[in-house]
Amino acid sequence: MKLIKSPFKSYKGIILEPQIRDFFTGRIWIRTNTPFPQEKIETNLKFFKITPGITTKRGLLNRKIYRCNRCHNEKQQEFVRYDCARCNQTCIYCRHCINMGRVTSCTDLITWNGPKPKFSRNHILDWDGTFTDSQSKASKELTESIRRKNKHLVHAVCGAGKTEILFPAVLTALKEGLRVCIATPRTDVVLELFPRFQKVFPKTIIHALYGNAPTQTGLAQLVIATTHQLYRFENAFDVVIVDEADAFPYTYDPALQKAVLKVKKQHAPIALVTATPSHQILSKVKQEQWGYSFIPKRYHGHPLPVPIFQSLWSYDKQILKGKIPSKLSKWTETRLKNKEPFLIFFPTIKLMEIAIPLFQQINENILSVHAEDPDRKEKVLKLRNEDIPGLLTTTILERGITIKNVQVAVVGAESKIFTSSALIQISGRVGRNVNFPKGEIIFYHHGISTEMDEARTEIIRLNKEGFGGKTT
Ligand SMILES: [Zn+2]
Ligand SMILES: [Zn+2]
Repeated sequence: MKLIKSPFKSYKGIILEPQIRDFFTGRIWIRTNTPFPQEKIETNLKFFKITPGITTKRGLLNRKIYRCNRCHNEKQQEFVRYDCARCNQTCIYCRHCINMGRVTSCTDLITWNGPKPKFSRNHILDWDGTFTDSQSKASKELTESIRRKNKHLVHAVCGAGKTEILFPAVLTALKEGLRVCIATPRTDVVLELFPRFQKVFPKTIIHALYGNAPTQTGLAQLVIATTHQLYRFENAFDVVIVDEADAFPYTYDPALQKAVLKVKKQHAPIALVTATPSHQILSKVKQEQWGYSFIPKRYHGHPLPVPIFQSLWSYDKQILKGKIPSKLSKWTETRLKNKEPFLIFFPTIKLMEIAIPLFQQINENILSVHAEDPDRKEKVLKLRNEDIPGLLTTTILERGITIKNVQVAVVGAESKIFTSSALIQISGRVGRNVNFPKGEIIFYHHGISTEMDEARTEIIRLNKEGFGGKTT
C-alpha cells in the first residue's frame, strides 16, 4: 500500500493547517469572528497569542484610560460603555474601528504565534515600459532608500507615472523574500492599483483589501489595502508604501497614521507617495532627513492643465429651482457634441442628487456617483469604456482615476470641501493620456476662494519647475 503524505505538518503534536497560518500571519483578528469555523480556531489556539481587545491603565487622578489593541485608538471620547450581552456585564467598546466588528473589553484578539511561513523570492516584473529621466531617478532613489531602510517621500505631479516608479522598488523587496504593503486612504486607488500590479507581477500572490472585498486565499506577499484595513494587521510588513498619503481621511486621522506604524516591523522603512504633500509632511522630510524625490513633469512631457475660473453666481439656487446654470449646461452640451467624456464635481451629494435629473434631460445616460454608491466601480468603468458620456461626482473621484480625454468641471469650487490639494488632484485628472495631453478644467464658482488661488498658483509653479523655470 502506498503511503499518502499528509499535506499538513505536525507541530508540537498539533496538525498545522497552512491556510490558517497563511491567513493569520501578520494579522490581528477577533477570536470569535474569523473566516474559519470556530472549532478550527479553538483546536489551533496553541499557535496564537491572545490579547484583550481593550486595555485599561490609570492616568491622572486615578482616572481610567482605555486603549483599543486593534486600532490603537486612545481617544477617550471614542470609548463607549454598554450593557454587554456576551459577558452580562458593563463593557467598554471602541467606536473608532466599530465598522470592522466590535472590539470590547471582553473581546479576545488573536495574533499568529506559530511557525512562520517562508515568503517566496521568485518574482518577476513583467513590464516593458520605459521611464523618463526624472522617473528613472526617482525610482532609483526610492529603491535605494528602501534597501537602506530609510524613510522616503516621492513627490510626483498628477500624471507623472508614480505607480510605475514603485515597480522596481517593490520587485527588489519581493526578491529578498520581504513582505510589502501598499496602503492608500482611498478604495478607488486600491481598485486601480490592484489589476496593474497583478499584471506586472504575475508570480506574486497579491491581495487587495478594502471594505467588502471578496475573500482571497494564499499567503499574500504584496498587500494593497486601504489604510482602514491596516487595523487588522500588526508587525506584518518589511516595507510599507503609502500612496496618496495626503488624502482624506489619512491626514486628519492620527489613528490611521498610527496604524501604518503598527503594521510595519520595527525597522521597516516607510515611503510616502503623493502629488500634493502637506506642509506637515514636507517639514518632517526635512527634519528627519528622509530620502526625497521630486518629479515636476508628467511622463508624456506636457504641462499640467491650468484651471480656468468662471463665475457661476448662485448656482445652488438655480439648481434648486430646477435649472442648470446656462454656462454649465452649454459646457456639458459642448462635451456631448465633441464626444468628450466628462466629470462634473459637486460639493455635496444633496446638490448633486437634485442636479442629476436635470442633466439627464440633456442626456439620459449621464450618471452620478458618490462614496456610498454600491455601483461606483461599474459606473467609472462605464465612463472609461465610453458607455456613458459623463459622470457627476463628489470628491471621491478626485484622485486615482485615469480616463482618456476626460474634461472636468468643478461646480462650487469655492466650497470648503475643495481644498487646494483636492483641486490640484481634480485638475490632475485632465490630460493624462499621451494622445490627449490637453483638456479643460474649469472651476465654476460663487466667488474665488484662497484655496482656488493656491491650487492654480501651485500648478503654474510646478509647470515652471518642470519646464526649466528652475532647476532642481
Ligand atoms: Zn479600535
Ligand atoms: Zn462584554
